[in-house]
Amino acid sequence: MSAASYQPFEYPIENVKGFLDPAEGEALHKLAFEAAPRGPILEVGSYCGKSTHYLGLAAKQQGGQVYALDHHRGSEEHQLGEGYHDADLYDAEVEAMDSLPYFRRVIRRAQLEGTVIPLVADSATMGRYWATPLSMVFIDGGHSLEQALTDWRTWSPHVMPGGTLAIHDIFENPEEGGQAPFTIYKHAVASGLFEDVDRVKTLAVLRRI
Ligand code: MG
Repeated sequence: MSAASYQPFEYPIENVKGFLDPAEGEALHKLAFEAAPRGPILEVGSYCGKSTHYLGLAAKQQGGQVYALDHHRGSEEHQLGEGYHDADLYDAEVEAMDSLPYFRRVIRRAQLEGTVIPLVADSATMGRYWATPLSMVFIDGGHSLEQALTDWRTWSPHVMPGGTLAIHDIFENPEEGGQAPFTIYKHAVASGLFEDVDRVKTLAVLRRI
């Protein structure tokens, strides 16, 4: 089958809240299209569903599935009073962030219910009994070093041979951004289990040997 180009759905991706460059989104779409026939894809850190939209549309074209993992309580920077807090995503009744209702609307509007399966849990809890090999893992979760290391340790062992590991927000220069994603990228390369195959802006693409 020829490689699919990203075809925006009628709900424009520009309108979806999130932090993903369109070129990175199109790269995720292409990777997911290649991976989806081999097994399920797992995304760590779905937030409002912007990257999930790209992964999901590609998987749907292939009859595949995407597990979209997020506790939906926001990362450190999303909390009340922090720099990336979004009042639309705050549940005042329980005094907590909740991006799940917004995420579900995005997935429904993109007609991706049935392709995208939300997993509402933190990474370590979800991974505790996980046993399903994954054709692709996209790590875009919390950017503290502890959280990034947890995501790497929890999910990288489940990438099947020949499968894809993509990591978002790679900044080699500390002045441009936080170093936790770059740190786990270096772990992946140093492990000898993954080879570095591509870089699209801040998206690193590795392949399980
Ligand atoms: Mg990100």
